[in-house]
Amino acid sequence: MGFADKIEAAQSHARGDHRIAHLYEQWLSGSPKYTTQAKDFAYGELGSAPMAGPRALRASEGGMCPRMRVMRLIGFRQAKPTPSLQNIFATGSFLHLKWQMAGLSAGWLTECEVPFYAFDGLVRGKADAITEWGAVVDFKTAGSYFYRSFAAAPKPAHVDQVIAACSALGRTKAHLIYENKDNGAYTEHVIDVTDEMIERVRTDAEVAAEAKAAKRLPPILEDCASGDSRQFKGCFFHEQCHGADLTATFEGMWDK
Ligand code: SF4
Repeated sequence: MGFADKIEAAQSHARGDHRIAHLYEQWLSGSPKYTTQAKDFAYGELGSAPMAGPRALRASEGGMCPRMRVMRLIGFRQAKPTPSLQNIFATGSFLHLKWQMAGLSAGWLTECEVPFYAFDGLVRGKADAITEWGAVVDFKTAGSYFYRSFAAAPKPAHVDQVIAACSALGRTKAHLIYENKDNGAYTEHVIDVTDEMIERVRTDAEVAAEAKAAKRLPPILEDCASGDSRQFKGCFFHEQCHGADLTATFEGMWDK
């Protein structure tokens, strides 16, 4: 960990309740060994299929481009991730397992990959874990460029994701753990979920569902208007975004 990251981690620790970071450090400082429960979980997780069930908005896309959320909800085909993006996803998945196995082995996590439907089935997702004190946990990984901003404040979309999970699972506290893939630094944000937060995220989901019902796509983001921004090129739906004519192109797809 470099000097700047040490300062950043110290400042972050000073900002609030970093119970999971503390427990993880305790576990690492001892003689860490994975329990049979943790190994069984990892084995099952590596062979698991995507969550089945009715189509719904993804909790992990809360707060993201409304047009993209509705396109996915309708059933627009998304672009296949490139091998290098798949590699990034795989790294993230294994870093998740690392935290989950540590927490299960030490006992401060009681369940992992807990499926949920929130807001009367409008939103679905999986909570990465539940703590022994009943909080939702989500683990995120990022390279140094994004990690610095996430360490200062959690990404709003990630906050919306844990708000949906807390609403569905009847929890009021969430921990967001960010790990820097480049150097192993990590930090923690604790979110006390209020009724107002839940209502805001519920309203976003209802607006997306209404857009689908009205056969109306939310507008193209300003950033994506020119078609050459990082946001545009990074969107799985960018090839179909501009000029999508819903009634002509997607007649008959609405109830799938
Ligand atoms: S390309 Fe941009 S505006 Fe279009 S769906 Fe994706 S993020 Fe949204």
